[in-house]
Amino acid sequence: MRYSAPFEQAAEYARAALSLMEKQGIPFNPNNFAVWYHYFSGSNPDLKRALDILLDNKQEITATVSSEIFRQFFALEHEQSALNEAATKLEIEIGKVLEKLSNAGDDAAAYGKTLEMFSGNLGDDGSSDDLKSIMSGVLAATREMEQHNKLLEGELNNSSEEVDRLKTDLEHMRHEATTDALTGIANRKKFDEDMRRAVTEAMEEGADLCLIMMDIDHFKNFNDTYGHQVGDQVLKLLANTLKEGTKGQDTAARYGGEEFAIILPLTDLDGAFRLADNLRKTISSKELRNRTTNEKLGQITVSAGLAQFDMGEPINQFIARADEALYMAKHAGRNRVVSQVELEQTALAFDS
Ligand code: GH3
Ligand code: MG
Ligand code: MG
Repeated sequence: MRYSAPFEQAAEYARAALSLMEKQGIPFNPNNFAVWYHYFSGSNPDLKRALDILLDNKQEITATVSSEIFRQFFALEHEQSALNEAATKLEIEIGKVLEKLSNAGDDAAAYGKTLEMFSGNLGDDGSSDDLKSIMSGVLAATREMEQHNKLLEGELNNSSEEVDRLKTDLEHMRHEATTDALTGIANRKKFDEDMRRAVTEAMEEGADLCLIMMDIDHFKNFNDTYGHQVGDQVLKLLANTLKEGTKGQDTAARYGGEEFAIILPLTDLDGAFRLADNLRKTISSKELRNRTTNEKLGQITVSAGLAQFDMGEPINQFIARADEALYMAKHAGRNRVVSQVELEQTALAFDS
């Protein structure tokens, strides 16, 4: 992270950050300070927007919310700086290419001038000696130009190979940083990123946004019976089912262990329920078989919890609601989908 604000301005951001932290009762620690310093410096527009949304909605900024924000915006810095480094190298390579192109232009211009000069000489009532020397001059200049061009071609080829290599490295790094190694679907980091974007877009457009949290039932038993490696194959199969069962705008991610999450922008609770239940049915209808031994492994089932985003609420609250619904699905007997509506009804039943 680079800081470029002049001393006085930086001091102002720091004072504003401390004063707001004090007012909101946010614990004074370096992570929280980083969050609010950046808020006032405006150096990270996404962070500023996320915090403005919380402040505008009079959401309480608790220690948990602050640390979640820190994790989302700063904990990824290591990977981002590696990406930035690669991007800088790419810029340098492109700079070199451009410089070579510009040098080539200069050489061509010089060659043109030489030719002009000779053609001017030819205009005089020159002798054949003059003509000879003019011709050998032109020849020499042409050879020189040819050599320059060859050199340039070679250098350009090297540069463009290097640029290609860097581009591939960059794409590879981007993919690695956002993909779960076992299942090949989005990882937790990508989930966090996509969730932040989905929440911001839902608020900007006043649109529906739902979240499914899904967990494999009794997966420990499955692993104990058939082994961890077979368990891993089941995780892959489940991930594929989720990927195939969702659309382009949705994010199906491995949230951790044997838990998966699906972000569903522009989807209301009814639609999300139908999707979650279809996925559940598809998964439970698959006859599992060990590919190597052909042994029948029976079926696996999943439980899922469903929540709808409430405008302005912190992301962790939204996720917690889907988690609570998932917990309820487990307690109600597993292999089922529970939506937040049922949570609310249960809470009401307890109240009355
Ligand atoms: P519940 O229905 O309550 O979710 O029961 P469960 O056994 O699925 O839940 P529990 O949290 O007790 O155990 C989760 C199991 O998931 C434990 C672990 O062996 C398995 N698991 C988590 N990550 C992986 C993984 O990457 N590969 C494999 N094979 N198993 C995993
Ligand atoms: Mg489980
Ligand atoms: Mg679990």
